[in-house]
Formats: sequence, C-alpha cells, structure tokens
Amino acid sequence: MKYQKPTINRIDFALASKYGSPLRSQKIKSSIDGVSVNELVKEFGSPLFVFSQKTIEEKYNEFFEAFSSRYPKVQFWWSYKTNYLDAICKLFHKLGSKAEVVSEFEYQKARHLGVEGKDIIFNGPYKPKKALLQAVKEGAKIHIDHLYEINDLEEIASELNIEIPVAIRCNMDTGIYPQWSRFGFNIDNNEAYNAIKRIYEGKKLILTGLHAHIGTFMLTANAYAKETQKLIKLKNKVEQDFGFEIEYIDIGGGFASKNRLKGVYQAPEVVVPSANEYAEAIVNAIYENNKGALPELYLETGRALIDEAGYLLSSVFASKRMPDGKKNYIIDAGVNLLYTNFWYNFEIFLDKRYDGLSEPSQINGPLCMNIDIIAPNIMLPALERGSVLTIWPVGAYNITQSMQFIRYRPNIVLIDKEKNVHLMKKSENLDTIIENELIPQFLQ
Ligand SMILES: *Cc1c(COP(=O)(O)O)cnc(C)c1O
Repeated sequence: MKYQKPTINRIDFALASKYGSPLRSQKIKSSIDGVSVNELVKEFGSPLFVFSQKTIEEKYNEFFEAFSSRYPKVQFWWSYKTNYLDAICKLFHKLGSKAEVVSEFEYQKARHLGVEGKDIIFNGPYKPKKALLQAVKEGAKIHIDHLYEINDLEEIASELNIEIPVAIRCNMDTGIYPQWSRFGFNIDNNEAYNAIKRIYEGKKLILTGLHAHIGTFMLTANAYAKETQKLIKLKNKVEQDFGFEIEYIDIGGGFASKNRLKGVYQAPEVVVPSANEYAEAIVNAIYENNKGALPELYLETGRALIDEAGYLLSSVFASKRMPDGKKNYIIDAGVNLLYTNFWYNFEIFLDKRYDGLSEPSQINGPLCMNIDIIAPNIMLPALERGSVLTIWPVGAYNITQSMQFIRYRPNIVLIDKEKNVHLMKKSENLDTIIENELIPQFLQ
C-alpha cells in the first residue's frame, strides 16, 4: 500500500449530520453520457461546460407527458433567460417548445433562430416602445406588466389602426413568501380585474390570456394549485363581465430541479415534487374551477428542464493547508461561472477513485475574491494537480448570468445521443472582449 501521511481531523459542525461523521465514500463520475471527462478536458480545455442532449430530451418528455396525459391542450414555451445558447433553444424548439422571452435582446435572439412572432411570448417589465411595435406587427403574444404598457399598446393600436390581442401578467398570494408581487397586477386586491376593465374600456386591446409566474425553485405543488385556481376564477369572471374569450392561461415557470438548495437538508429526491405532482395540482385546479370552454394551458418551465442536463468540468490547480488545518483546493472555475452557487450546494464528483482517507476540505475558484468559494466544507481525499472535478447540476442560469471577471468564459459543448461532442460556444479571447472598447484620441 502507498504511504499516506496521517492527518488529525477536527470535528466540524458544518460537516456533521444527525447521523454523526460524514460519509467517507468518494463520489465518482468518470464520464458523461459515455464520454470520458478527462478526454473532454483534454480536447476542449478546462473549465468546460458540458450539456447532455439525452437528459434534455428525457426531462422535456417527462414534463410534457405529465401534463399532456392529463390535459388536452398543453404547450411549453422555452424560457430563454434560463439558458439561451442558440443550440439549446434550437433543441427545445425541435422538441415542440415555443419561445418565452423577457427582453428585447431575447426577442431578437428568438427571431434570429427562426422562431415566428406568433410563437413568442413577450414577458417582462421593460418593453421599449420600438420592441413592442415590432412584437405587435409580428403577432407575438404580449403579456402586459403595468398600466404604462396598456397605454403604449393602445397608442400602437391607434397608429396601426388595429385591435391587439394581449394577455396580462398577474401576481397573487399562493402561500409562498416572500411573495413575488412586483410583476404584473395583483389578483387579491382587484388590481388585475381593474386593469382588465381598463383594457375593456379602452376598446383597442382584446384580452386573450392570463399569465402568472409565482417564483422560482418552488418546492410545493400546492402553490401552483392556488395560482391556477385564482387565474381560472379571474378568467371566469372577466369572460362573464366583459365578454372576453380567454384562450389560454399561462402558469409560468418555477418548477424545482434536483439541485440542493442551501439550508435544505433533505435530499432533492425527497423534497422536490415530481413532474406528475406539479401537473396533478395544476390540472385538477383547472377542472375544478373552470366554467365555459377549457383554456389552453401554457407552461414556461425553464430550470427543471435544463439544470440537470448541465455539468461544469473543472481542474484542480493547486492545494494548500489553511491555518485551521483545513485542506484548501484552488480550481479553475469559480463564481464567475457559477452564479447559482450562492443558492446551491452542488454535487461535486471526482474523475476516479483516489487513495487515502478523506479529510475536511474547501474548494475555491480562481478569482481574487474572498467569496469565490465553490464548496466551503467537503470531505475529499488528497487530489492532485489536474484532477478533474465534475460540478452538477449547473444547466440553469449559470451561463446566462456568468460574469467576465478577470478570466475568459470557457468552451461549451453538447454531447448528442450518439456520443458525438459538439462545440456550442467557443471560449472568449482577448479580441472578443476588447472588440467594442474604444480609447479616446488624447490617450492614444
Ligand atoms: C424566469 C421566468 C421563467 C422561467 O422560470 P424557471 O424558474 O427557470 O422555470 C418563466 N416565466 C417567466 C415570466 C420568467 O421570468
């Protein structure tokens, strides 16, 4: 046996569970969908984002089945901001998802990918008039956020001499706190009803849909039951009072992925509702409350469809021992690439089995920032320079919210179902970053 230097481990509360000392077993992931992580890093560099086509399709099919087996009219709308890599959006569109965008930039990106206006939902609190005009002309589904937007749309309707079909975004108490009440109009205090009355009286817009997005990483299906019930009751009322025909209700996104939220100690498999549980709650609430024709059911699920399909490979660069005795690893990916690290304790896998006992360790990123901590307390065996770690699940929000702080953003690849690896986005370099910078004449 190889000699292992002995270490004395201080018992650390952050590492103990109610079962006593932490697991000593090593979590190993040597390949993703049959492709070796070491080979991936050799070919595409480190760090490297890796996405699995297989997982994306499995997730989409799981959620689509859960809803379409219970309800006749279901449509998914891919939430661009969750991950708007062209190839990822294309994949979702190919599976049958349409596009849900929340800004002018995202709208343009969907159009650039060949998505027709009618297949785009335009959400968000900030829709400049020019973007709104284009969306109206192209027949996009516009979800109104505030009264200014009603006025803007009425002006556009007058300019174009048309009636514009619209939906409004609603917010409400669903038993989840803090409540997301800054978007759209409140149902509980009648603000939403009054906004619809205002739309009716303006005679330029036609209400065809009701939308809400109650939060993200929602761990209770019951919140969706409450949301759906309130939307359907509002639908019944405005159809009766104003004669509008509500074609669809859009219950937004927010389903949780199998990620481990900080402060939640049970395993994701225990606390995260299944696609079937979410679907059951939502669909039952429609059937129990709806009067008149059944509306189409729209979903803007983002996170739950992509988070588990994304991995970040990162390599150990150095290690040191901190004054309190804890082992410290410096790896080449930090919070610059893992924005969601502030909320989650990711799974961290080793590329192979390492000899020796595990000891309390901390994993830090490469940034000169004290908060650049990927794992503050983790049991690890002695890793070497170049050991490849797989951080998972990281498919949602990390790429769209990544920051270019002191380093270049890395390559991103997709593994297809035949184990072929495709580059989806090339890493940045000096040219791509300084491309739009200008030096004033007097400094040249
Ligand atoms: C962000 C967002 C979504 C997607 O939310 P997830 O938590 O990723 O499912 C859907 N709809 C709207 C309006 C959003 O802002």
